[in-house]
Amino acid sequence: MATIIDGKKVAADVLEKCAEEITDLKSQGITPGLAVVLVGEDPASKVYVNSKVRKCGELGIHSEKIVLSREATQEEVLETVKNLNENPRIHGILVQSPPPPQIDEEAIVRAIDPAKDVDGFHPENVAKLALEDPTGFVPCTPAGCMELLRSAGIKTSGANAVVVGRSMIVGKPMALLLMARGSDATVTVAHSRSKDLPGICRQADIIVAAVGRPEFITDDYVKEGAVVIDVGINRVDDAEAKKGYRLCGDVDYASVAPKCSAITPVPGGVGPMTIALLMKNTIKAARFARA
Ligand code: NDP
Repeated sequence: MATIIDGKKVAADVLEKCAEEITDLKSQGITPGLAVVLVGEDPASKVYVNSKVRKCGELGIHSEKIVLSREATQEEVLETVKNLNENPRIHGILVQSPPPPQIDEEAIVRAIDPAKDVDGFHPENVAKLALEDPTGFVPCTPAGCMELLRSAGIKTSGANAVVVGRSMIVGKPMALLLMARGSDATVTVAHSRSKDLPGICRQADIIVAAVGRPEFITDDYVKEGAVVIDVGINRVDDAEAKKGYRLCGDVDYASVAPKCSAITPVPGGVGPMTIALLMKNTIKAARFARA
């Protein structure tokens, strides 16, 4: 039976280390600060933003939540980012995705000071990741997946890894992290145009599923003994659930778990890691600002 990789536990360990670092920074007169900008009232985004702010509070990170109306203009968002770039109490800035359609998200990301880009989406940080420059910020979700692999003692060196999905926030950075020196996996990136996806995945010692399709990766995609990291967070209707829906991953846990050597559950796998890595990046930004 597969080892279930406990993301809550690993995230708690990361946060414990964060708390120690914050104490150290505070003893030097520095309080890390994170600003979270929310444009509009998207319910899922509101939940994410509130949980980030709450986590800051628990850890003693200064946080500012800036809520702009759904009708906010590109200029207003840019002005908000500019002010935060200049605010010395703020070390990390993120603009919650997705913004309303009138907002050019890419331009907003480019306006964030790369030294405060704790999401790791600015082109300068993307380049630093590709260059394996440790002064950059790595996107939180793939960084969290790497931490899960490390904590579970999974050897990536020489392993065949298949990343399903090529988004800039998960798939691509995940592939770069797995192939980086030190991780040393042999990486295949699959996407919607890939041919024979089950066959590609069956070659994998490690599968990272970031597809955005509920329970898409079934046992037919997984070779015996593989490690499966499920990044997906999907809401599916469930008349029996109290809320009328349940959360599930991109992996069909019921059929895959019996076949693999280790797997992350949803919820309680990658999800808690994303926020923990955001806190870690904010602390890193505060340290750099001091240097
Ligand atoms: P995107 O929609 O941006 O990317 C999905 C990727 O999957 C694309 O590259 C797409 O290919 C590929 N894909 C879609 N359908 C297929 C298919 N039938 N066969 C093969 N590949 C396919 O999603 P994200 O990367 O943003 O997110 C992926 C998942 O991770 C989602 O479930 C999301 O909710 C979750 N997520 C979880 C986070 C967490 O904290 N745990 C954080 C971020 C995301 P193509 O490029 O060709 O379109």
